[in-house]
Amino acid sequence: MAKKARKGSYSFYREEDDRALKLRHKNETMLRSALENEEILVYYQPKFHIHESRITGVEALVRWNRNKSEIVYPDEFISILEESGLIISVGEFILRKACSDIAELNASLERPLKLAVNLSAVQFTDPGLVGKIRTILEETSFPSELLEVEITESIAMNDIASTMKILNELTAMKISIAVDDFGTGYSSLSYLQKFPLSTLKIDKSFIDQMQNKEEDQGIVRTIISLADIMNLNVVAEGVETGDQIEILKNNRCAEAQGYFISRPTDIGSLRLIMVSKDPKQSDN
Ligand code: C2E
Ligand code: MG
Ligand code: MG
Ligand code: MG
Repeated sequence: MAKKARKGSYSFYREEDDRALKLRHKNETMLRSALENEEILVYYQPKFHIHESRITGVEALVRWNRNKSEIVYPDEFISILEESGLIISVGEFILRKACSDIAELNASLERPLKLAVNLSAVQFTDPGLVGKIRTILEETSFPSELLEVEITESIAMNDIASTMKILNELTAMKISIAVDDFGTGYSSLSYLQKFPLSTLKIDKSFIDQMQNKEEDQGIVRTIISLADIMNLNVVAEGVETGDQIEILKNNRCAEAQGYFISRPTDIGSLRLIMVSKDPKQSDN
């Protein structure tokens, strides 16, 4: 902002803004047909139980295979989907695809994987949300008690009463609720207590420097105790090293997710990872 006001540089920034806006419009136009062109992909990142030393679940993460030639990451297109309202239909597709993929994989595993799906605050403004989730669970025969939705603290900034109603309906269906990127938003401890939550996901930014910064490690420890006191599960996000796993283990953090364990992968690679780790005993 301050830079824009600087004399002489105004037109340069205006051109940049103009170009960015045009690109955004172009992407929005392409995203309108992304579903029918089968360009929306769902990847899966394992969640690792540190003490049991096994993969207990996965998180679905969307990818856009733009023009079927280039994988685009969510940071580049989720906000376009949200602003255009396309997130409603794309979000529904992601949930259906993830439930059907993981239901199929679970059929060949001894212990079924839990599935977490990210929900945007915009999806919470859709009056049909809960009904759509119910229908998808039925259609894919995915057990609701294995489904978790990940929401960010920003959802609580919406209409609290309607958010609470939706969360209660999901909980009544035995779906679990996780707070994503915990520690980076504005949620008050009182809402944390009022919402029917099951899990806190510690944001990657606190994990990154945990080995070197006493303060960051203190924050991580505090979130783990908070979860413990409130009877919530806790997952560390963005774990990239063995040292970090060690620290988390010493601090009794139950679960971890990150490149150290596995990057997000397509369903084929996930199947290879899981079937090698947990082959179903074939006794007939
Ligand atoms: P998130 O839900 O907090 O997901 C974690 C992000 O961190 C993912 O990025 C994941 O690939 C990345 N990550 C995981 N472990 C590591 C690590 O060890 N190191 C590093 N550097 N990164 C790691 P991704 O897939 O690009 O997604 C970014 C965000 O986009 C997600 O953050 C989520 O907020 C949003 N998103 C992704 N998929 C969906 C979706 O299906 N629906 C909605 N509404 N939002 C989604
Ligand atoms: Mg997430
Ligand atoms: Mg996160
Ligand atoms: Mg995030």
